[in-house]
Amino acid sequence: MHSIRKGVVTFQRYVFPQHKALFSRLALGQTPAALFITCADSRVDPTLITHSHPGELFVDRNAGNFMPPFHGENASEAAGLEYALKVLKIPNIIICGHTDCGAMKAVWHPERAKDLPSVTRWLTNGKEARRHVMAMKLPEDQQLNAITQRNIVNQLQNLRTYPVVRHALEAGTLDIAGWVYDIEHGKVLEYAPATDSFEILRA
Ligand SMILES: [Zn+2]
Repeated sequence: MHSIRKGVVTFQRYVFPQHKALFSRLALGQTPAALFITCADSRVDPTLITHSHPGELFVDRNAGNFMPPFHGENASEAAGLEYALKVLKIPNIIICGHTDCGAMKAVWHPERAKDLPSVTRWLTNGKEARRHVMAMKLPEDQQLNAITQRNIVNQLQNLRTYPVVRHALEAGTLDIAGWVYDIEHGKVLEYAPATDSFEILRA
C-alpha cells in the first residue's frame, strides 16, 4: 500500500499543479469522447494506449471486457451504458480486449477456475466465443488469440441488443468499435465487419 500512497502524494505535489487548468474545467462536468469497455487487467491502460487525458474516456472495466446482453436486469454494465448514452450522450463505444487475457484463458479452460464460483459464473459470458472457436479446430497456439477476438465480436453483438444503442445507431449519433490491444507490441487490432476479421487500427 505504501507505494500507492506515495504515488498519490507525488501526483498532488508534482502532476496536479501542471494540469490545474484542466482539472478546474473538469470539476464543472464531463463530456467524454468515448465509452471504453475493457478488461480489469492491470496491463491495459485506456488513457495511455489512446493517448487521452482525464475527462476523455468513460471507462467501464470487468474481467473479460464483457457487455452482457440486454435483459432489462439491473447489471452494472447496463447501468453504465445507459448513463453514458442517455445522460452524457457519448458518441463512441469501444470494446477493447487484450493479448494474454486471464479471463479468456479461463473461458477456454473452465476447469482451471473451478474453485472460483463467482468467476465461473461471470465467465459464462464467454461461452458463445468458446463454442465458436471450438468448432474452428485451430492449432493450440492460435486458440487464445481466436477466442479473444471472437469475444469482442460477440460483445459488439450484445451491445446491439440494448434499445438505447440500437436507437443511437439508427439515428447516426453513435459509432461502435471492437479492439484487441497487443501488450507486447503496443499495437491495436480493430474489428472490420466487412471482412469479419481484425486489422491493424489506422487513424
Ligand atoms: Zn483480460
